[in-house]
Amino acid sequence: MAHRPFSVFTQRDLDRIEPLSRLTPAQRFEMKVVSTVLPFRVNQYVIDELIDWSQVPDDPIFQLTFPQRGMLTDAHFDRIAALYQAGADKAEIEAAAHDIRLELNPHPADQMEMNMPRDAAGNRLEGIQHKYRETVLFFPSQGQTCHSYCTFCFRWAQFVGDKALRIAASEARMLHDYLRHHDEVTDLLFTGGDPMVMKTKHLQGYLEPLLAADFDHIQTIRIGTKALSFWPHRFLGADDADDLIRLLERMVKAGKHVALMAHYNHWRELETPAARAAIQRIRATGAVIRAQGPLIAHINDDPAVWARMWQTQVSLGIVPYYFFVERDTGARNYFEVPLARAWQIYREAMQQVSGLARTARGPSMSASPGKVEVQGVAEIAGEKVFVLRFIQGRNPDWVQRPFFARYDEQATWLHHLKPAFGEEKWFWEDEYAALREAKLAIADEGVSLAA
Ligand SMILES: *Cc1c(COP(=O)(O)O)cnc(C)c1O
Ligand code: SF4
Repeated sequence: MAHRPFSVFTQRDLDRIEPLSRLTPAQRFEMKVVSTVLPFRVNQYVIDELIDWSQVPDDPIFQLTFPQRGMLTDAHFDRIAALYQAGADKAEIEAAAHDIRLELNPHPADQMEMNMPRDAAGNRLEGIQHKYRETVLFFPSQGQTCHSYCTFCFRWAQFVGDKALRIAASEARMLHDYLRHHDEVTDLLFTGGDPMVMKTKHLQGYLEPLLAADFDHIQTIRIGTKALSFWPHRFLGADDADDLIRLLERMVKAGKHVALMAHYNHWRELETPAARAAIQRIRATGAVIRAQGPLIAHINDDPAVWARMWQTQVSLGIVPYYFFVERDTGARNYFEVPLARAWQIYREAMQQVSGLARTARGPSMSASPGKVEVQGVAEIAGEKVFVLRFIQGRNPDWVQRPFFARYDEQATWLHHLKPAFGEEKWFWEDEYAALREAKLAIADEGVSLAA
């Protein structure tokens, strides 16, 4: 496939996005206001090949990438709109946007306090998160952006240029030192942003050393990416793409399990010739593609969309892996789907596909104690309950034990739920509180050591 240049638009360039000229000036102003607070970035491939402009504003990929009025509360929207209307200067508008962002739970699930390991001197290892025993997450500093931004992104706080909010790494050496000293770790997960925005030579600097014998315990290397949707040309044509394909091949040949954890929200992302060519090229290296993505109102809150997406994935050789619940951050009011409805959509989608397409676990909430799956709604001893389980837990002992919450039709996240059967606490609650206390105590100590 011919190489295509990558071209991208951000808030400053809204007026240059040609198809937006069909919207009203009022709609364009709304976009400008919303993208002052929440990150916006879209590229020409998404505009030309993924969005069906005849269906805008309802088109799911338009909802996935373009700012919508409903993403801000009236109060937040009006505050920014009034500043623009009054001709306020840039600094004043940015200060107001910053205040609003802080009200939007920028770091859900205690990511900063509880997941970042520390070195012997108590310094945080920026760029590493180690929450579950087997798996280390790494955020390479060159991979903290994406080819386009998803409007619902829970990592949105990283993209708005707010240094203090950023979680990023500087050094491959730190990662390698950490892994060398943690032989309980079997899986390394590169994430971001999107590590695939990095040049191959940077990626190689992180990955190639892992082929040495002191990293034999690292069996699996996962790379979380949405490039297969937003910029499949990353894997096609150009020199850098060829080098990437050869790098994946070398990793696989050396005995590593290499998995691209591809973020998909809609089957439309799988339909373009470039997307299909990229999938084939990656699969030919021996790397596996696994699919994961959240359930999002306005984008994919429909069992038929999931059923078709899973079926298409399986037919292309992709393994459906996770069905996530949208996190409690950012524009959650606009995107969230109640847990009861999420389970219904999951179930109805499962019913429509064969067993090979039933491998996505969920609906799963990535909450601070762990990944909690809604297994279903049941009536037990006369009480309507949610049946829950940990897919992953801070304490491995919690994993796979069913537990029960009072049914609540409106609840959208774990912290809205109450234990069923008149219990006062979750079975894991005291242990979680103790773990949290211990982590936060270390965090305080780190601060005083640094001071
Ligand atoms: C989901 C997740 C993982 C990986 O869990 P698996 O069940 O192995 O896919 C690792 N770390 C964090 C913080 C996660 O949220
Ligand atoms: S690709 Fe992932 S990290 Fe990037 S904006 Fe979308 S959800 Fe966020």
